Amino acid sequence: PMTTFTPPTRILMGPGPSGAHPRVLAAMTRPLLGHLDPDFLRVMDGCRAMLREVLQTENEVTIATPGTGTSGMEAAVMNLVEPGDRVVVGICGYFGERIAQMAERAGGEVTRVQSPWGQPVDAAVVEAAVRAAGGVKLLAIVHAETSTGAETPVEPFARIAREHGALLLVDCVTSLGGMPVRVDAWGADAVYSGTQKCLSAPPGVAPLTLSPRAWDAVRRRETPCNTWYLDLQLLEAYWDERRVYHHTAPISMVYALHEALSLVLEEGLETRWARHERNGRALQAGLEAMGLTLHAQAGYRLPVLTTVRIPEGVEDTAVRGALLHRHGIEIGGGLGELKGRVWRIGLMGESSTPGNVLLLLNALGKLLREQGFKADIRAGLDAATERLGGG
Ligand code: PLP
Repeated sequence: PMTTFTPPTRILMGPGPSGAHPRVLAAMTRPLLGHLDPDFLRVMDGCRAMLREVLQTENEVTIATPGTGTSGMEAAVMNLVEPGDRVVVGICGYFGERIAQMAERAGGEVTRVQSPWGQPVDAAVVEAAVRAAGGVKLLAIVHAETSTGAETPVEPFARIAREHGALLLVDCVTSLGGMPVRVDAWGADAVYSGTQKCLSAPPGVAPLTLSPRAWDAVRRRETPCNTWYLDLQLLEAYWDERRVYHHTAPISMVYALHEALSLVLEEGLETRWARHERNGRALQAGLEAMGLTLHAQAGYRLPVLTTVRIPEGVEDTAVRGALLHRHGIEIGGGLGELKGRVWRIGLMGESSTPGNVLLLLNALGKLLREQGFKADIRAGLDAATERLGGG
């Protein structure tokens, strides 16, 4: 039996996790403290303060729920939706549908507004649905749809929510730390994220913030929240100065989050967004110049996650397997209705480097040629290099 495990060297260019910074991994090896030790509580307070900065919010209720991004989603949805509440979810991919399913489990009366996978959610159609439903409590969208590579700009939905007296929930799992996320300027009421995407920490906790309006709605519930572990009133009582025991904090993950947030702020948000933008656009230019077709609608393509169509006659799993085993590069396959039709290439956090862009283009180009697709590798590398500012 294997008694110890040494992972192979990989370049993580899938939909997450991204490669963690060595400082984040080192932080996780620090000695444990008790979860109510005053020195550990200082780390939690540091996370709270830095999360507000990274999320661009002054919301008092800003915490990290225990669990991956889905725990942030579940906490937000379960706490805000009561049985009979009307909920409208704008869906243009896999994760929007997940929100809708959770809202149904919370007892909400859910209206789904669907857009084709690869396009943003359509604000006009959503507004009509909100008007038709009447008395909508919660409007929900995914900012960066990891399943399709498309961005849904948030501002129009914030306006709709305001005008119709609804709360706006935004999934920023894939965007936070890699693209502008401005919770207060948007006017978003509930925003959550994950740690393993553009924050480049391991998966394990979920940043979450609630506006005063959303917090009011949580506190004024008429029915108890359907989840005990993710009950935000209990979680907030542990994260704020009351320090009421709720669960044993995932100590090492909180260390990791603290270090990851420090790294984001050391780099600077604007600089970090610009880095993701430049590398993402270079990758996209390179893929197109090689002769491939991007899936997401032009103008709405995420810089941090690119979907590219798998050419006719090329075998999905053979290419991804060879990328992994021969080149040490992980990319993602398609999810849901895009399974077998696209690849998903992430450039998130530490994985978003010019070197990785060129490495991937070169490796993918060679494997495509082996499969009979005449990828123009030279043109791809030239186009990318030019976008990176080196050509
Ligand atoms: N929302 C989006 C947009 C995601 O991309 C993901 C994960 O890929 C999730 C939610 C769920 O996060 P997790 O897998 O960390 O639970």
